[in-house]
Amino acid sequence: MPTPNPDAAPDASMDTLRAADPEVAEIIAREGERQESTIELIASENHASPAVMAAAGTVMTNKYAEGYPGRRYYGGCVHHDSLEQLARDRAKELFGCRFANVQPHSGAQANMAAFMATMKPGDSFASLILKDGGHLSHGMKLNFSGTFFNPVHYALHYDKSHPEHERIDHDSVRAVCREHKPKVLLCGYSAYPRVIDFAKFREIADEAGALLIADIAHIAGLVAAGEHASPFPHAHIVTTTTHKSLRGPRGGLIMTNDEDLNKAINRALFPGVQGGPLMHIISAKAVAFGEALRPDFKLYQQQVIANAKVLAASLTEHGYRITSGGTDNHLMLVDLTARDDNLTGKDAEAWLERAGIITNKNGVPDDPRPPMTTSGLRLGTPATTTRGFKEAEMKRIGAWIDQVLSAGMKGESELDKVADTVRAEVRELCAQHPLPHATRCHA
Ligand SMILES: *Cc1c(COP(=O)(O)O)cnc(C)c1O
Repeated sequence: MPTPNPDAAPDASMDTLRAADPEVAEIIAREGERQESTIELIASENHASPAVMAAAGTVMTNKYAEGYPGRRYYGGCVHHDSLEQLARDRAKELFGCRFANVQPHSGAQANMAAFMATMKPGDSFASLILKDGGHLSHGMKLNFSGTFFNPVHYALHYDKSHPEHERIDHDSVRAVCREHKPKVLLCGYSAYPRVIDFAKFREIADEAGALLIADIAHIAGLVAAGEHASPFPHAHIVTTTTHKSLRGPRGGLIMTNDEDLNKAINRALFPGVQGGPLMHIISAKAVAFGEALRPDFKLYQQQVIANAKVLAASLTEHGYRITSGGTDNHLMLVDLTARDDNLTGKDAEAWLERAGIITNKNGVPDDPRPPMTTSGLRLGTPATTTRGFKEAEMKRIGAWIDQVLSAGMKGESELDKVADTVRAEVRELCAQHPLPHATRCHA
């Protein structure tokens, strides 16, 4: 077991749990150890602070607070009103907008409410082709968004000789809006490494008479820190998660500057989509927004971006292709076939996990392989940056990734050997950068 961080406060709640239910405590402790000793490169994950986690595990979980501050369906909500109002105020300050709804249980619910507030069942909305970077709530067939609404899709530039290769094709956005006259134009993605031009999207939405929704689930932390252009004042509605680059608890958030839209959003979320809000999670959101308002959060986001650039450059040096030629944000898509035609995302993800490097397979733009195989890996730096990794560690990670994948292509016995060696080195590096909540998980 790695050495616990001596600076972290001892955590009574974990001791309480261990005494009351050792079976659950044991599994949680193992997960703590896994996070502690592995390199987390999943672009949508992060390590929330001890304060965020403490707020998430309190008496606030005991209360029904259906409704909104000042207008609840249950008595006894006085402190819940204060807390929800505080969370709202901090969110508004953080993103520079007039209205915030902090109740969405997660990003998908935020999108569902935003859609219900702006569309009727059967209405059309335009979004990016899902397999090229969209989210399942942007029109996947089995999701509410593809069942109750009619998604039409725009594309990236797929032509290799185009200077904007693998970036948003704004002509295609315009063409799809002209043809289908969607009620909503949706931008913001799950696997897009470049800056989003919100002003241009608004221009196209206005031409088509559509409302612009910006889903900043992935880049919310960068936006909050001013390290990615803000969707305000361009987007009519902004939706996000709170647990990705924003580093809060698992949850969602919806914002707008428009009073009428705000009313429609509030109605759509409750009672339209959800019942009672998760007040313990809203407490933790307030803590996370408070953390993001502090000056060191900007330095953190700058380091996230610097780290992503170094990791992308390192992998390029080792013969991999980074789609669109690099990254502007916290993530990158690695085209593995540039290194070897037979290399798949599925194999790469499994091989790297044996070495303690956690990633997810992901399609690359125009990927000929199906989603369960893929030709690419999506890598992100929010989590590793939280534990204090900088440029030097990113270069080592790039080299480890190539070592493991090269071994995997040579066969099982070579992979076995190399994965063991790298696993030991990864453990050692992680032990030098303990997570802030080390004692929570295995004191
Ligand atoms: C992650 C994500 C969401 C929401 O995900 P949840 O798992 O429901 O929190 C929504 N949109 C985009 C673009 C995302 O990447």
